[in-house]
Amino acid sequence: MTGLKMPLSKKKHKCKFCNNSFARENTLANHMCVRKRRYADKDRKPNRLGFKVYLRFFKLTTRSKKPKTVEDFIASQYYNDFVRFGRYLAELKPINTDAFVDYVIKNGVKLKDWTKEYVYDAYLKEHVIKEPADKALERTIVEMEKWAKQNNDCFRDFFRKANENEATFMIRSGRISPWVLYLSESGDELFKRLNEEHGKIIDESINPEDWEVIFEKRQDEVEFVASILDEAGI
Ligand SMILES: [Zn+2]
Repeated sequence: MTGLKMPLSKKKHKCKFCNNSFARENTLANHMCVRKRRYADKDRKPNRLGFKVYLRFFKLTTRSKKPKTVEDFIASQYYNDFVRFGRYLAELKPINTDAFVDYVIKNGVKLKDWTKEYVYDAYLKEHVIKEPADKALERTIVEMEKWAKQNNDCFRDFFRKANENEATFMIRSGRISPWVLYLSESGDELFKRLNEEHGKIIDESINPEDWEVIFEKRQDEVEFVASILDEAGI
């Protein structure tokens, strides 16, 4: 029998991913191809995130009413790029993931550049300025609480006690909003502890002059944030 090819009609078990047919069910079960592998991976976190972004991409850029499916996704020539971006999102944990995804799509950033640092930095600058003050306040306090838990300290003492490098990094990455940094009493105490290098990093990422203008224009929000911070002893 060796060397003889099985007639096609006897190969009854077809892989729905690559259309290859096999005589035995077991062979099909053990068979693996690129799309079958992708299908098996569909519930992993980067893949799920990648698929979500893929759906959003088509929603924002095409008029098609027919929703894309997982099958469309795994057959896409951009599959690997979307999964790579999903992995990047899972690691980066952006401030407001949905807003960041919309930012790269709506600004026409090339797919291969979605994971570049300068893209997230540009998004962050814009987002931190645009977001409502109460949202900024809420998420900053969540970050301070995380810090407090890790350091067995009280969240209200973040600016007084957090390690200078860590605090600078959290401000630079937008996790501590300028709304809280500049409008709290204890924010000044952090500035007193920082060195010139830290100050430079902060100035480059948030530009204090921009914030003077923002506070000038958004007086109601300033009063609201300042009163909450005061009450919380921050
Ligand atoms: Zn296959």
